[in-house]
Amino acid sequence: MAKVLCVLYDDPTDGYPTTYARDDLPAINRYPGGQSTPTPEALDFTPGHLLGSVSGELGLRGFLEKAGHTLVVTSDKEGAGSVFDRELPDADVVISQPFWPAYLTPERIAAAPNLKLAVTAGIGSDHVDLDAAVAHGVTVAEVTYSNSVSVAEHVVMMTLSLVRNYLPSHQVVLDGGWNIADCVARSYDLEGMHVGTVAAGRIGLAVLRRLAPFDVRLHYTDRHRLPEAVERELGLTFHESAADMVPHCDVVTVNAPLHPETEGLFGDELLGRMKRGAYLINTARAKIADRDAVDRALRSGRLAGYAGDVWYPQPAPADHPWRTMPHHGMTPHISGSSLSAQARYAAGTREILESWLAGRPIRDEYLIVDGGALAGTGAHSYSVTR
Ligand code: NDP
Repeated sequence: MAKVLCVLYDDPTDGYPTTYARDDLPAINRYPGGQSTPTPEALDFTPGHLLGSVSGELGLRGFLEKAGHTLVVTSDKEGAGSVFDRELPDADVVISQPFWPAYLTPERIAAAPNLKLAVTAGIGSDHVDLDAAVAHGVTVAEVTYSNSVSVAEHVVMMTLSLVRNYLPSHQVVLDGGWNIADCVARSYDLEGMHVGTVAAGRIGLAVLRRLAPFDVRLHYTDRHRLPEAVERELGLTFHESAADMVPHCDVVTVNAPLHPETEGLFGDELLGRMKRGAYLINTARAKIADRDAVDRALRSGRLAGYAGDVWYPQPAPADHPWRTMPHHGMTPHISGSSLSAQARYAAGTREILESWLAGRPIRDEYLIVDGGALAGTGAHSYSVTR
């Protein structure tokens, strides 16, 4: 029987919801490109309910306990005395979401001799030290595609929000004011601007597709080029590197995983190559950008705005400079955890557990590390140092 240790974010401050703003979710059975949405044998939750917080338990308790397994759910994940550290030594499976990551460092992996499976309920497994997972034979899986479109929608929202100066203008209303000049002195149209994405995978391509109708000029850089037909359809300009692309762009969006190739990419040098007054949207991972270089670029005017939902560490400390730097549109890490996304990644987590507990192969597209090496999606999108 397996012990499953699940780390989730805290319930809402006013308690776990008993009612919801809407009664249902649209039915989505396939992602763009044809991959099916998760196909677990059954579900013990109502899609559209809050699953990602502690009381939601990703809808897993009934299924696991009926089969005789143990489920421990906690939000307490930092420090030697944390519930996570206390429960880890005999855990077989760890589940966490990138929004509230249980950092599986080499030390923690070494302290968990039973650990065989680390599941990311969502996408992005950089909170797991992949080198250590490879070395210790830990399988790492994530629910590929489950929230890619959710993030793409957030990127579009943040792009428009920065370019049009939405948040400061909303603040004027909240403050009881009406000074239009204060609102519009930094407000532009997106139409005609050059927008580039660093990486055109599931999220990056979804962003390009969603922005194309705004009559913008689209650019991308990626390790692999998109099919020619897609480039033609969307009028894409390909660049060999981010350094080649950013001088041409008014808006840059980052949609690459965090791995050795992308860590620290947006430092002083790359930011210095951007057009004065460009906007940078990073919903990928905070460490792809240099924290203080972003702050400096906003203060100097190199960047006209920065937005995203990813921070390091998470939760971000109260004095994190990205909370107070000028012209930012940051949110906590929420873009991939809409109720719509939660329904998909909770179902995908259950599908991964059903396969693993029954000794069946996990869907190849969900695998990041398996059998002591990068595997499946991981072999395509990530790199390790060993
Ligand atoms: P995909 O794997 O579909 O796409 C990632 C793309 O990044 C691939 O096309 C890959 O290239 C490309 N890439 C990798 N390294 C580089 C590099 N050095 N330079 C340029 N491109 C590179 O993943 P998704 O689009 O679904 O997700 C992307 C990332 O977004 C995730 O890894 C995660 O970190 C983040 N994310 C954030 C969420 C949030 O809530 N904020 C939620 C979900 C994801 P190729 O495959 O061609 O080699």
